[in-house]
Amino acid sequence: MSQLVYSGKSSLIQDFILKTEPVFLTSDAHEMSCYVCKKGIHDGVSLTAKTLDSKNVMLCEKHFE
Ligand SMILES: [Zn+2]
Repeated sequence: MSQLVYSGKSSLIQDFILKTEPVFLTSDAHEMSCYVCKKGIHDGVSLTAKTLDSKNVMLCEKHFE
């Protein structure tokens, strides 16, 4: 499992692959959604940060490949 860092606005969140401890889900929930399907952790998907065209996006487990 790799350490991934997503920098957006004031948020700095490491290791998005946590499935059991969504402790970081608070006011930034609107940024915590899949870049493709817009589903978030609150929808029961795991999100992973990925650099796409030099910017960080979040992808769910289905769209990360
Ligand atoms: Zn998705």
